[in-house]
Amino acid sequence: MRKDVRILLVGEPKVGKTSLIMSLVTEEFPDVVPYRAEEITIPADVTPERVPTHIVDYSEVEQTDEQLYQEITKANVICIVYSVNNKKSIEKVTSHWIPLINDRTDKDSRIPLILVGNKSDLVEHSSMETILPIMNKYTEIETCVECSAKNLKNISELFYYAQKAVLHPTGPLYCPDQKEMKVACLRALTRIFKVSDLDNDGILNDNELNFFQRTCFNSPLAAQALEDVKNVVRKNINNGVCDNGLTLNGFLFLHTLFIQRGRHETTWTVLRRFGYDDDLELHQDYLFPPLKIPPDCTTELNHNAYLFLQSIFDKHDKDRDCALSPEELKDLFDVFPYMPWGADVNNTVCTNDQGWITYQGYLSQWTLTTYLDVQRCLEYLGYLGYSIIAEQESQAAGMTVTRDKKIDLQKKQTQRNVFRCNVFGAIGSGKSGFLQAFLGRNLMRQRTISEEHKSYYAISTAFVYGQEKYLLLHEVFPDFDFLSDAELSCDVVCLIYDASNPFSFEYCAKVFKQYFMDSKTPCMMVASKADLPEVKQQYALTPLEFCRKHKMPPPQSYTCNTAAAPNRDIFIKLTTMAMYPHARLRCMCTCNRCTFCLCQNFLNSELMQTVKAKIYTVIFSRHMTQADLKSSTFWLKASVGATVFVVLGFAMYRAMLRSR
Ligand code: GDP
Ligand code: MG
Repeated sequence: MRKDVRILLVGEPKVGKTSLIMSLVTEEFPDVVPYRAEEITIPADVTPERVPTHIVDYSEVEQTDEQLYQEITKANVICIVYSVNNKKSIEKVTSHWIPLINDRTDKDSRIPLILVGNKSDLVEHSSMETILPIMNKYTEIETCVECSAKNLKNISELFYYAQKAVLHPTGPLYCPDQKEMKVACLRALTRIFKVSDLDNDGILNDNELNFFQRTCFNSPLAAQALEDVKNVVRKNINNGVCDNGLTLNGFLFLHTLFIQRGRHETTWTVLRRFGYDDDLELHQDYLFPPLKIPPDCTTELNHNAYLFLQSIFDKHDKDRDCALSPEELKDLFDVFPYMPWGADVNNTVCTNDQGWITYQGYLSQWTLTTYLDVQRCLEYLGYLGYSIIAEQESQAAGMTVTRDKKIDLQKKQTQRNVFRCNVFGAIGSGKSGFLQAFLGRNLMRQRTISEEHKSYYAISTAFVYGQEKYLLLHEVFPDFDFLSDAELSCDVVCLIYDASNPFSFEYCAKVFKQYFMDSKTPCMMVASKADLPEVKQQYALTPLEFCRKHKMPPPQSYTCNTAAAPNRDIFIKLTTMAMYPHARLRCMCTCNRCTFCLCQNFLNSELMQTVKAKIYTVIFSRHMTQADLKSSTFWLKASVGATVFVVLGFAMYRAMLRSR
């Protein structure tokens, strides 16, 4: 909101400028007035819009032209005063004053003008007939008013209009020539409609309208008022009300009506509540609320933000296939000024068979943006109207700033949900294949990805001891001399070499020795392309010897050249190492005895699979018969399952449901 409003009065001598100001202040007509009134400031609390207001007089006797020009540039609104009984003073409005003011202001940001016909007590007739053509000619004239300093008629109204012209200007909203709203205003109101249409059916129903009303005006509409509004729309246009709710056309019509009736403040209140500034751009303060991120901390979305994003997904997944088709995605980002996700996103997160981003993938991408570029995430949530719909102070309320990683390491535990793994390897060692394998894509499927849609990130979830965590893989371009801090700082390092290429391991050994040998970041060696015959690596030590020497787990064989989706175990291991950097040696074995191995074995056990299958039947089968329920074997297994869940926790149960 503005800090203050500066109103300047100009016009021919003796039209009553000074008298108008004195009448306003003293509430009586002064018989004798000076040439020029002192500048007065009306304190915020006595003005209708609660903004301090300065009123400035002009007198050609006391002021030079130069002083006048200065006042014109300083003013926020100018009242051109004429006397209704003085024809010459009216003529001068167009012949002298308007051109003089326009010469001193930008054509694009014309200062609003108000035509003031004073001394209405002296005439029977109105000057409106003469004034209307002038109003039509000059769109910068906000309004006109006839008043009398002597009778105190319309005096406070005059200053109220002037204040309103500054605080709620017509200019950005409405084009008086065309008698319709301007494009930017239509665009803003359309976004507001879409954000407020919580179920995305193209209609604001009574609930949505009430929420909207409460959000913008702090009070719900009475049932009758709601009906009245809809009736006004019904009467005027035929597609404004549908299924007893307001359509976008109806919503836009209503605002056009507000503006045409001089109720700009209503439309402005709505626009400002949804973050718009005076130029109808989203305000920087709205898009980028302050959020402090100390070093060694990361940013994650909190539960509340995930719930919001989930509701946005649900609202746009119209066919309920748990994935966003290109049209659905376009519709989701319709409230953005640009399309934020390119084709590379489809290769950064999980997609379905058609290559469309799944629910999981969608949340993963949000998690990635929050982690890598929190400012961008704040901006995006701003476009979606997070603070308004989730009723939060700002987008910053949806963020968790994690604690310093050094403290995590000290305490040997972490509350983080997102872990970063940087993947190093020589050219052709299989880094990209590894990233894509994490998204469930085998080599065949990977070959369909075009070079320009390639991504250097992959993010998805992994379950570690029953907890769902995000693992963010980042493929580091193999260049020794230019490894930035961002490429080196991560929670776990993955070094990949091509087991079928004798010259591949050397790079991993070099990177490790140069950057990670003395760091506390756990490292894992991966021998890729395990489907091909293994060859001896040209290096002083074998990979296994190298790993032993540097106290790393043994190299992990890996291939993404599989018939089905590639194995995920390695990603679970990486996540585990990232979460428990101290316990790195204990869990990387294949001993089948340690906690990690036991947990993995248990998850894959046949009993677990059976319980899983049965649970699906109960929860998801619509054709479930009574016989099934009565089957004693089922109950037996289900109760075993229940015990298992108690042991493993609810998160695991959720995992099984999700993997359907
Ligand atoms: P300025 O030169 O524009 O500032 O005009 P003034 O305020 O000095 O007023 C010029 C003359 O018009 C004075 O004699 C006022 O008393 C008179 N006057 C101002 N306003 C009104 C009004 O509303 N009605 C009548 N009848 N006379 C007015
Ligand atoms: Mg005067």
